[in-house]
Amino acid sequence: MATALDIAKRNPNAAPVAVSDAARAAGFVEKTAELNVVAGAAPGGASLIGLTRDQLKDSLAAIGVPERELKMRVAQLWHWIYFRGAKDFSEMTNMGKELRAKLSSAYTLARPQVVSEQVSKDGTRKWLIRLASTGPLDKGAEIECVYIPEVDRGTLCVSSQVGCTLTCSFCHTGTQRLVRNLTSAEIVAQLIVARDSIGDWPHATPPEGAFVPTDGGRFVSNIVFMGMGEPLYSTDNVIAAIDVMSDGEGLTLSRRRITVSTSGVVPQMERLGAEANTMLAISLHAVRDDLRDELVPINRKYDIKQLLDACRAYPGLSNARRITFEYVMLKGVNDSDADARELVRLLKGIPAKINLIPFNPWPGSKYECSDWERIERFSEIVYRAGYASPVRTPRGRDILAACGQLKSETEKLRARARMMAEQGIGAEGVYALGDGE
Ligand code: SF4
Repeated sequence: MATALDIAKRNPNAAPVAVSDAARAAGFVEKTAELNVVAGAAPGGASLIGLTRDQLKDSLAAIGVPERELKMRVAQLWHWIYFRGAKDFSEMTNMGKELRAKLSSAYTLARPQVVSEQVSKDGTRKWLIRLASTGPLDKGAEIECVYIPEVDRGTLCVSSQVGCTLTCSFCHTGTQRLVRNLTSAEIVAQLIVARDSIGDWPHATPPEGAFVPTDGGRFVSNIVFMGMGEPLYSTDNVIAAIDVMSDGEGLTLSRRRITVSTSGVVPQMERLGAEANTMLAISLHAVRDDLRDELVPINRKYDIKQLLDACRAYPGLSNARRITFEYVMLKGVNDSDADARELVRLLKGIPAKINLIPFNPWPGSKYECSDWERIERFSEIVYRAGYASPVRTPRGRDILAACGQLKSETEKLRARARMMAEQGIGAEGVYALGDGE
């Protein structure tokens, strides 16, 4: 796992991958470790935002805080960063002036830059976030993060990778080529950005006219790992981020309100349940292997049977902790009565709920959304078999924030990538350009 001060230095051998056309044609590229930003020397001015307790401890030790004080100082920093949302070390009044000065000269509490915020007419917010540079030539990759407020909850959809290698054929995000895993700090930072923006800290207030939950709870009460990327290709970082998000002395999100959605990285599922103890969602979308091979190409490696066996073995599975199966409704593709009946048969014995997702069209997609009557009929068959089968109301359609539509501005690097490839410059150079246009 990457250590505290790693966020500013990339492993020179760990170039983000520009997925080749051949690899894409094969369906997916299964790379994990080499997509990570890994340990390096501490740069001046690195942000402490998103770091784990161990990483904060290392950061304090690096500026000479004595070993005997480290535990107490970490607890203080933790409280200020994750409970109060401090943006400046000068706020940390229970720390001596000398230590605050040392912290200020070595580190920052900088958040990733919010490049843009879009607010849907239904209250959904989408942020385009530029991550800190990971090397001298990197202007910072961009990711998206979406907040979906309801009366009794506020759900934040976070990304785990820059882009995605998995090329699910109905997913807009999957058309983005350039990929690296986010560090745990970069995952946590999305929650910090959201809390800043909607005023979800003690003594903060939401922006004028913002739609936030009104039940008296936190404005961000739930996290779903359903943004860009496959979380179980970055399991270490995702688990570390969940540990920070759910820590009872800081961000205090219940693990029962954190859902990790996987397209089916079977070997990592048991570990996720055992170590992170979160809810699990599966992007199923098809009930036959031939169709799922096309819609969710990782199925060619881990087929439906292997996937459902891993679901049955998911730690902590019970009627109170059911697995959510996501099923996108594609007209004439996967939405027949026979598909619904097969879905029910396949899930027999698995405590499950089924989310039916009306397909959100995006420019260039080859699918259409099923007709409403068809979705209702499908839902009825599933419901009569004893499964909750809510139809997910599309949110944020007007700002392309709905499921499967996340795709950051780094997309425009493609054209630049091609140009540089022609000039004999490798993927590292392409990636390092950032958006800069
Ligand atoms: S659905 Fe998820 S795993 Fe599939 S391409 Fe989109 S982001 Fe990647």
